[in-house]
Amino acid sequence: MTGYKCSLCKKGVKFDVKNIGMQCPYCGSKTFYKERPTVAKKIKAK
Ligand SMILES: [Zn+2]
Repeated sequence: MTGYKCSLCKKGVKFDVKNIGMQCPYCGSKTFYKERPTVAKKIKAK
């Protein structure tokens, strides 16, 4: 299971990576961000 965040309603959702056709159970959005738990990455400008 992988954690994702819905780009529309910002709710955290979990999907099986094998599952095709992911859809937000809350708002029906099909756009998600990959959730990175407890990773506070410092990004330096290139
Ligand atoms: Zn949603």
